Amino acid sequence: MAKFIFVAGGVMSGIGKGIAVASIGKILKSKGFKVTAIKIDPYINVDAGTMNPIEHGEVFVTDDGVECDQDVGNYERFLDENIYTDNYITTGRVYQAVINRERNLKYGGKCVEVVPDIPNEVISRIKKAGRKTIADFVLIEIGGTVGEYQNMLFLEAARMMKLSRPKDVLFILVSYLPIPRMIGEMKTKPTQYAVRTLNSAGIQPNIILARSTVPLDEIRKKKISVFCNVAPKDVISAPDIETIYEIPLNFEKENLGNLILKKLNLRPRKKRDLKDWEVLIKIIKNTKRAVKIGIVGKYFETGKFTLMDSYVSVIESIKHAAYFFKRKPEIFWLSAEKYEKIPSQLKELKKYDGIVVPGGFGLRGIEGKIKVIGFCRKNKIPFLGLCLGMQLAVIEFARNVCGLKKANSTEFMKKGIDNVIDVMPEQKVLLKEKKYGGTMRLGAYKCKLKPGTNSSRAYKSNIISERHRHRYELNNNYREFLEKKGLVIAGINPEKNLVEIIEVKNHPFFVATQFHPEFKSRPLKPHPLFKEFIRAALRLQF
Ligand code: GLN
Repeated sequence: MAKFIFVAGGVMSGIGKGIAVASIGKILKSKGFKVTAIKIDPYINVDAGTMNPIEHGEVFVTDDGVECDQDVGNYERFLDENIYTDNYITTGRVYQAVINRERNLKYGGKCVEVVPDIPNEVISRIKKAGRKTIADFVLIEIGGTVGEYQNMLFLEAARMMKLSRPKDVLFILVSYLPIPRMIGEMKTKPTQYAVRTLNSAGIQPNIILARSTVPLDEIRKKKISVFCNVAPKDVISAPDIETIYEIPLNFEKENLGNLILKKLNLRPRKKRDLKDWEVLIKIIKNTKRAVKIGIVGKYFETGKFTLMDSYVSVIESIKHAAYFFKRKPEIFWLSAEKYEKIPSQLKELKKYDGIVVPGGFGLRGIEGKIKVIGFCRKNKIPFLGLCLGMQLAVIEFARNVCGLKKANSTEFMKKGIDNVIDVMPEQKVLLKEKKYGGTMRLGAYKCKLKPGTNSSRAYKSNIISERHRHRYELNNNYREFLEKKGLVIAGINPEKNLVEIIEVKNHPFFVATQFHPEFKSRPLKPHPLFKEFIRAALRLQF
């Protein structure tokens, strides 16, 4: 029988609840348990696919094609396990399922009510995800902050689960302890209120993870213990640290793994094994020599702040590959629009060891990215293009090598003369019917590699499987022409005959993929393409 650990957040969002869940999973796995993790997003959206990346952050895509929250990416990276559709729950998904069932007369004529029918649907989804993965532990992250109207029904589901299986359910609150500058002291009051709010939902946290900029001292530990009704040993200090990958080790310093096991009447199945992980942390912390990578995107700016959230998997993939070569990844945010307005700035790209043009949607910044790609091609700067990055690399090549000055994508120029990137036929129908949600080409597809290319050397394999999220593709009417002019078609989807990877010749590394390799990179298993990209950026021989 699986054990269920609910993790909720107190005081404010953005304090690393997802990483905490992923780290707890990592610890339990290291002690011999099978772990899976569920993300609950309380919004009405059925999935994350329809949301603006500046507002919501990256849309992560699973093998089975769900567009979900970026925390699912953290789970996959920490646990080194694939996460599937059942592990992603939103208010939209839950209501949709309940309403569909009601329309199909599956409730046998009874009045369908918010409580208990909605929490019951949540519970059945949680249990299903556990059964499917045969997990010993199901970790459930309840999105948002306690006290919010939006996540109440999920807390209600957690409470009901505890009621029916008291020995199998544990609650953890990840809370924030501010240190206001004018006071200079760490304050526990907001956390006390968070616990009270949780109490009023019928839930008493078993463990409190106290997030703050610095470690918790004994006075604060005792205060939280008394006012929040938990033993001092159940208050875990979780200060800011240099790298998120160190968090499992930090939790273990406070013996969190065994604390959880004890509360659920379990013993470790094996001695904790985090050796590889510890080696990685040492590399991360001690490496001085840098590799400088520029990411040319557009989802950075929000008011006066710069956000990195939209590209989190790309960033992590660069890091994993850099760590493999024992280098410190230095990542620079380069705004595509800048190069559009002031092309003379392109020169600065020479400062970087490599350039990534990641995925994206819509017209803004497109011409700037194309200019950047052209500069990388001509100046032999290692370049990796991802999804939109590949489409723009094809457009650049068509315009500047093949002389198709009007080359474009149907996404930006509906009736262009030379749309070398075109909408897929089945997508045309969907767009016409305004069926936008969850309808892109999504999830894992096979790709056959061409021997002798950089890609096939990187993967050391002929057939690979990678995750997609797009509506547009290289237009096959131009394929032969582009190839004749020197574009290398390095990967093809065998079923649909779609171009998945392109390369250019006589260049240290110029590879662009229609899929998103960043979704499959793991800290101890850097993605082959990112690895070879970084190798080239370091001017190392293949
Ligand atoms: N906008 C492009 C498309 O839909 C690229 C999408 C992406 O980069 N994920 O095909």
